[in-house]
Amino acid sequence: MSQPVIRPGRVEDISSPSNPRIKSIKALSMKKNRDREGVFLAEGQKLVTDALEKGWTVRTLLHSRRLLDDDRQKDKIQSLAVTVRARGGDVLITSDKLLTSITRRDNPQAVVAVVEQKLSDVSQINLSEDDCWLALDRVRDPGNLGTIIRTADALGARGVMLVGETTDPFALEAVRATMGSLFHVGLVRLTAAQFADFAVEHRRQGGAVIGTHLKGAVDHRSINYSTGPQVLLMGNEQQGLTDELAAVCDHVVLISMEGAADSLNLAVATGILLFEARRHRLPEIGAV
Ligand code: SAM
Repeated sequence: MSQPVIRPGRVEDISSPSNPRIKSIKALSMKKNRDREGVFLAEGQKLVTDALEKGWTVRTLLHSRRLLDDDRQKDKIQSLAVTVRARGGDVLITSDKLLTSITRRDNPQAVVAVVEQKLSDVSQINLSEDDCWLALDRVRDPGNLGTIIRTADALGARGVMLVGETTDPFALEAVRATMGSLFHVGLVRLTAAQFADFAVEHRRQGGAVIGTHLKGAVDHRSINYSTGPQVLLMGNEQQGLTDELAAVCDHVVLISMEGAADSLNLAVATGILLFEARRHRLPEIGAV
């Protein structure tokens, strides 16, 4: 079968804040608009480059006019623009002021992209021998979620499951905090019941589910994490892990603490557990 012909995207120079395209891009700060359009905003040249390299669809690339006057920046931005247009996306050349109004930042990024959302289905998760996925029970804070996605990527986890009602991974703050890792790991949204079914099947196939809880009975350092594919399950920031989800775990672990704090921040706890669970995968001391 022949491939569909892609119409190259158009280039437009826009200065007016009341331009309808700028208005609809600004409206993507609201979740309902992101969901309706199936897109989100990614800021900065690195994120846009990562998105394109990983095959995400950039519908619109916006960049500051000033980049074209800067010899060092000009080639890079033109090369990004060529790739975006060749894949059917449009390029909007605009002002720093308009970019600031879109991203609501004090120090605006000179490059912003409208990228199509991409979520996988739980049926597409195929964990082989030493794979690791994270699962987050009702994560509320977009900064936590973005930081966790970045940490998951850094430690070689395959992806992040969003269990129950969670914050939007495509919110600007979450995307920012991922620092581009959003484009490198899988994302799956599922209900607690779907996660429970997945966990039962995963365990039946020899995988393990390790939950974290302040009432955990086992020290997180005492688990052997290299026995098969792992799912690491983290609880909600306020309420912790539900009893139902704790019940589907092989182990519910506690990260030992010494001081007066009641608990660790969710993203910090996730980082500590991931480093322990992936320790056997990290380069030997002195190897880097
Ligand atoms: N008030 C909540 C509770 O009672 O569980 C605190 C939740 S804590 C801020 C958010 C999540 O981080 C927890 O659900 C758990 O997954 C993880 N966490 C934080 N500190 C932990 C610790 N010391 N041991 C195990 N998990 C921890």
